[in-house]
This record gives sequence, structure tokens and C-alpha cells, in this order.
Amino acid sequence: MDRIGGRVRTVPFGDGVVEVGAEWIHGIGNSSTYRTAMQHNITILPQDPTFKVYQSDGTETDDELLLNDLVNFCFVLVGQKHTNFIGGMGEFITSRLLPYVKSKYPYLIKDTGFLPEFIGLMNSYISVHEATNDWNEVNVQSEYEDLKGHQHMSWHRYGYKTLFELMLNTYNNGPGLPNLDIKLNTEVTQIIRPEDGADVRVVCVDGSTYTARHVIVTVSLGVLKERYNTLFNPGLPLGKIEAIEKTSIGTAGKIILKFDKAWWHGQDAYYGFMWKLEDKVKLRIEDYWMTKIFGAGRPRGSTNTLSFWTSGEVGKLLEVLPEDIVKQKCMELLRKFMGKLYDIPEPTGIIRSSWFSNPFTRGSYSYDNRLTTQNANDRRLLAEPLRDSLGVPRVLFAGEATDSHHFSTAHGAVDSGHREAMRLINNSKL
Ligand SMILES: Cc1cc2nc3c(=O)[nH]c(=O)nc-3n(C[C@H](O)[C@H](O)[C@H](O)COP(=O)(O)OP(=O)(O)OC[C@H]3O[C@@H](n4cnc5c(N)ncnc54)[C@H](O)[C@@H]3O)c2cc1C
Repeated sequence: MDRIGGRVRTVPFGDGVVEVGAEWIHGIGNSSTYRTAMQHNITILPQDPTFKVYQSDGTETDDELLLNDLVNFCFVLVGQKHTNFIGGMGEFITSRLLPYVKSKYPYLIKDTGFLPEFIGLMNSYISVHEATNDWNEVNVQSEYEDLKGHQHMSWHRYGYKTLFELMLNTYNNGPGLPNLDIKLNTEVTQIIRPEDGADVRVVCVDGSTYTARHVIVTVSLGVLKERYNTLFNPGLPLGKIEAIEKTSIGTAGKIILKFDKAWWHGQDAYYGFMWKLEDKVKLRIEDYWMTKIFGAGRPRGSTNTLSFWTSGEVGKLLEVLPEDIVKQKCMELLRKFMGKLYDIPEPTGIIRSSWFSNPFTRGSYSYDNRLTTQNANDRRLLAEPLRDSLGVPRVLFAGEATDSHHFSTAHGAVDSGHREAMRLINNSKL
């Protein structure tokens, strides 16, 4: 692309910056990204994912503590290992949530509206977290591991882009790295492995060719899915092709609105939109997608912006609908849920993500789908290098999807690059 960073993209917006892609450092124990920030004395701030929930009749839910207790209960389950449960994430969470509510908040069981409405909100929230249409597309039996510590650590006004400035030694007008030569706007179309043991050739769309003893490919799983057939010459082994096809990448996206100044109050990270069942059924079919925007988040890097999160097919749709319609619908949502309590002005700007439409990403991040249990080795196959006849790795693979335990994250992506660099450095045959 015309910039570095890939699925990390910090943009100046409002009175600070917003993140169009990755937003938080998820966990700090043994985190490469957190460690890099700490080594350079960059303060990383926790942002508790607390909710203030508004309902589709324009009222606020009255017991914020209870709601956040339930949100937290659901969210903690997502990051844990559950090897004995066969099924989707939603089925699992619901099966644990009901006994929890029964014992802690028994009066809620009688409220026939609240629980399905809350479960609807959690489905949208966790679907965004997983980049899926529905939380039941996610396999509960996953090798994903949370790093220890706070799961939402923010680069706030520095922006996630600072990670790259630190890695490239350009932070605070640093001189960069003298031997590094990054070619922007240089699309690779083919990676050729000659059979005679000669160097690997990397061919670009403008006809330029680079040769190297070893090549590390870090394109997203979405790009691999779309291009593996033409990108590699000779083609990939069958096992790798199957792993590419069977592993899933989803779409999570944001629509970020800017206002003259903040008109909202409170410190919560999200304004959650909880649809009353009777309002949901009244929606026109063509507006039903609006129920998949779980709420508006408050970016930590600016004070006058709100980001609407969405995922799955709705996420893809919002990348291509005309921008003025997307803006108008987001405002409709804000006014429906919060308009009785606030006088909401028109926004003064909009940014939206396009992670699926972008041919250099073709999705937001990978997730473990319902077939993962049968194909437990797929991420290791994705990471497997292509070797020459002497067994020397010549084309290597990194990127978030190749990390069996920390896929879908920026720290997983960084670690996977390190893993492949070490594979080369430690190879006694080189
Ligand atoms: C909306 C969103 C929110 C997220 N939130 C978080 C979060 O809060 N915390 C977190 O840890 N992670 C988050 N992530 C995930 C995180 O951003 C990714 O896991 C990580 O950035 C992936 O890095 P990568 O190096 O594997 O791939 P990428 O960042 O996609 O890098 C791949 C690079 O390959 C280049 N490329 C692709 N095709 C070609 C080609 N043909 N020729 C040349 N170059 C090519 C691309 O331009 C890109 O620069 C989020 C992602 C999104 C989209």
C-alpha cells in the first residue's frame, strides 16, 4: 500500500487521532507490542470496556453495575479455554450466563424481555470482537490464549502507528534504520522458486523483480485465499492450500464520526444499543442490519469522535453503501437510542474502514471456525515454510493467522515475524 502498518492504521481525526484498524494491546504479560512501548517510555493507558446501555425506546438501563457485571462475565469466557464444550461461542456463553443470572439476579429470569435483549447485544459485541456474523460461528475449542493482564491497553494520543515508528527507529525524528529499504506502492504478483536452488524471485506488478535467498511472506489470510493460485510458482503444496481454505478470516469494521465537541457525558468506553424485541420486529427488512451495530465506542485518542463497530456481512455492506447513507443511519441510531437524553448535533466528518474491500487485506483478522477442532493443525500448516531439496526454508510465512495461540492480534503478528526470522537465523544449513 502507500503506507506501512497494514491492518494498523492511525489517522488524525477530531482533536486527536483515531484507529481505523487495531485499537488495543490485548494483555501485557510477555507482549511484544507492550514491551516495545515500555522500552521507549511510552505510556500505555488501560481503557476498561465498560458499557452505558441505551435501549431502542430511548431509555437508559437503570442498573449499570448489573449490566457491566454481565458484560464482563460474557467477555471473560471468550478468552478462556473450554476443551469440553462442543459448540459455538454463543451457545457456550448462554449456557453459562443463565445459571449465573439465576443465582445472582433471580428476579431477571422472570423478565421475558431483558435476557434475550441482552443476549442480542452480546452477540453483536462478541461478533465484532471475533469479526464474525454471529457469535456461534466461533469455535469454543480454540488454542487462542489471552496474554496476562489488562485486555484493553490503549496507545491513546500516540496512536498504534507509534509501534512502527519505534520499530523503524523513526519515532521523535529518529534517523531510521540505515540498511532498511521499504518499497511502498509495490504490489507483489508472483513469488518464483527456481528448482535449481537459485535465489527466489519476487515479481511486482510494475515488472520490477527482486531476488533473495529467502523470502518471508506476511500477506493476510484474506490475500492468500484470493491469490495463492497465482502468487506462488510453482504452486503451494496441497496441505498448505487446504489450510488456507479451511481457516477463516472475518470482517470487523468501524464508522467513525467527528463532532464539533463532545455532547455525551460519562466515562464509559461504549454506549451500547440494546434493541427491545418489539422494536426489532418493527424494523423494515432493509434496515435490519442496523441491529448489528452494537453501539458507539469512545476512542481514547480523541475527545470528540465516536466509533460505530460492526462485523460480518453487515461490516462488508457498510464498506460499500454510499457514505451519506451510512452517516445518516448512524445518526438515526444515535438519536433513537440516546436522542431523548441528549440534544445530538450533526457530525462534522466521517471515516470508515474498508478492510474487506481493500485488495491488500481482504478481511480484518482470522478466527477459529466451527471446523477448527477437526483441522487443529491448520495454523501450523499455514506457518510451514517451503523448503528446497536440501531442506532449507526458502519461502517462509508469517502474519497473525499463522500464530496458533495469538492469531487475530498485533502482538501475534509481530511474534510471527520474529518466529520466522529466528527460523532463518537458527538454521544450521544456511
Ligand atoms: C478493525 C480492526 C481492529 C483490530 N483491533 C485490534 C486490536 O485492538 N488489538 C490487536 O492486537 N489487533 C487488532 N486487530 C488485528 C491486527 O490489526 C492484525 O492482527 C495485525 O495488524 C496483522 O498484521 P499482519 O502483519 O499479520 O498483516 P497486515 O497488517 O495485513 O500486513 C500485511 C501487509 O502485506 C501487504 N500486502 C498485501 N498484499 C500484498 C501484495 N500482493 N504485495 C505487497 N504487499 C502486500 C499489505 O499492504 C500489508 O502491509 C484489528 C484489526 C482490524 C482490522
